[in-house]
Amino acid sequence: MNARQEATKLLRETKQTGISVDLNAIANHLGVKLWEVDMAPFEARGVKTSGILYYDGKEYIIFINREAAPNRKRFTIAHEIGHYVLFKEKQAADNNAVLDYVLYRVDDYDFYSVSDKAEEKAANVFAAELLMPIDPLKKLWKEGVHTIPVLAAKFSVSTEAMRIRVSNCFNELEA
Ligand SMILES: [Zn+2]
Repeated sequence: MNARQEATKLLRETKQTGISVDLNAIANHLGVKLWEVDMAPFEARGVKTSGILYYDGKEYIIFINREAAPNRKRFTIAHEIGHYVLFKEKQAADNNAVLDYVLYRVDDYDFYSVSDKAEEKAANVFAAELLMPIDPLKKLWKEGVHTIPVLAAKFSVSTEAMRIRVSNCFNELEA
C-alpha cells in the first residue's frame, strides 16, 4: 500500500470522516504510546528535536516536544506514525530510535543522511495524507474554499503544511 492507502485505511479503521483527525485515536488503535516530553536532552548542533519514534524491544513510543505549538505537535505525531506504519519492521530490526529534528520546513531534508531522506519524505507524505485527507479537502475545494489559512485552520495544520498539500495535489483538487 502507498502512503495514501495506509492513511485512508487507518482513518477508516478508527471511523474518522471529519476534517480534524483524532491522532490519539489512531495511536491507540495502533498500540503506539504518545508522550509529551522535554526535548532539551535531544538537541543536536543547536537544532531542536521535534519528535522521536522509539522502540524499546516491546512497544513503540512517540516522544513529542511538549513546547511545540499544537499544529506542529500534530504534524510531528502524524509523521512519526508514518515511520511506524511504513517502516516499523526495518526499525525493529535496527532496534533503535528515529530522531526527527526540525524538519517541517517540510522540503528541507539536508539534516538527514542520503539514505534517510527517502524515508523522511515518505513519512511527510503519509502525515499529509493523514492530517489533510484528500476527500474532505476536495469537497471543501469544490465548495470554493481556496484560502490556505482557512483550510489550514479547518484541518488543524500549519499554513505551510496546507500550502504544500494544496500545491502537491492541485491537479487532483481541480479535476
Ligand atoms: Zn522522520
